[in-house]
Amino acid sequence: MILDCAIVGGGPAGLTAGLYTTRGGLENVIMFEKGMPGGQITNSSEIENYPGATGEITGMELMDPWPEQCQKFGLKHEMVNVTRVTKTDKLFTIHKEDGTTTDAHSVIIGTGSSPRRAGFKGEDELFGKGVSTCATCDGFFYKGKEVAVIGGGDTALEEALYLAKICKKVYLVHRRDTFRSAPNTIERIKRTENIELVLNSSPEEVYGDKMGVTGLKVKNKEGEIRDISVPGVFTFVGNDVNNQTLIQEDGSFLCDMNDQGQVIVDISMKTSVPGLFATGDMRIAAPKQVVSAAGDGAVAALQAISYVDELLNH
Ligand code: FAD
Ligand code: NAP
Repeated sequence: MILDCAIVGGGPAGLTAGLYTTRGGLENVIMFEKGMPGGQITNSSEIENYPGATGEITGMELMDPWPEQCQKFGLKHEMVNVTRVTKTDKLFTIHKEDGTTTDAHSVIIGTGSSPRRAGFKGEDELFGKGVSTCATCDGFFYKGKEVAVIGGGDTALEEALYLAKICKKVYLVHRRDTFRSAPNTIERIKRTENIELVLNSSPEEVYGDKMGVTGLKVKNKEGEIRDISVPGVFTFVGNDVNNQTLIQEDGSFLCDMNDQGQVIVDISMKTSVPGLFATGDMRIAAPKQVVSAAGDGAVAALQAISYVDELLNH
């Protein structure tokens, strides 16, 4: 069977594309997602800027009803890691880690982005043993203890606020003295008594013993080293685009990309390859918001419906 549309990635972009393609009349649509559907927002402890989602709501709670809503209109879900997307003539092929392949007339890709490593000594060795990129997953282990958070963007500040509710104290380590975050989040950080700002300071080394992390060394602009004794270090230093599935056997990309590895699309989410649409955090100029990723998914789905109709019926 050839799919009308293959959706790669089951975050807000992929799920919305699934909803709109199936509800809009495409019959054979599979969403390939390597984990649980929902995407990276499921790691967020609080979301307050998704329209209509008022009150204290976690990312997990926000995304919980999305898959069921799509399934109602016929979206199928295959839990598998997609290794590559290729195109021969007018047909796309989805290559999967289990060795199988699926063919499709159109592809909507929304594989999002993944947390970046900061690159200091000990970070890789102690990852999962006290170094983490997910406060909602691991924050509870540090209930009543002190932790360090590294980064100065929206994610670092929001997750520092979340950790401050659980932990005795949070050291917020940032390499500059200004943050790249929403002003009201910065205000909340400044008002939170158990958050200590460690500014103009970069992580040098995280160290520990057999049990895990025991401390973090940071260096300030004057070159002075400060030793912070903590069992947990949370890094939130940005994300890398997940574009691996678009890399072809010869190392080239399936479609045009920019120098940051983001997919180049037009306002209809069309890539340089007819029938291939890119959505959400992985595309150029992405606002990196749930609402915009969902919007991209809807736009791409409507385009995919027209593309498949044109391909098969004209
Ligand atoms: P993603 O959510 O990254 O989803 C991509 C999906 O593709 C994932 O489920 C992944 O498993 C899957 N995938 C990747 N590669 C493959 C593969 N090879 N095969 C199969 N599946 C694959 N935005 C807001 O609007 N408000 C907020 O408050 C907010 N808070 C945030 C807090 C945190 C901690 C983080 C990390 C992000 C936050 N964001 C927030 C940003 C928001 O989560 C993203 O902009 C949004 O999730 C992007 O959606 P997406 O569908 O493009 O990608
Ligand atoms: P980000 O905005 O790229 O911020 C990364 C932070 O980490 C920056 O402060 C950066 O410092 C610092 N940093 C980078 N590399 C570092 C290193 N090697 N060592 C130490 N510090 C390092 O990433 P983000 O906070 O994850 O946000 C990503 C996107 O998602 C943004 O567009 C953001 O607005 C969005 N988002 C939105 C919300 C929301 O709407 N509520 C919530 C979360 C995320 P510099 O500042 O010096 O560069």
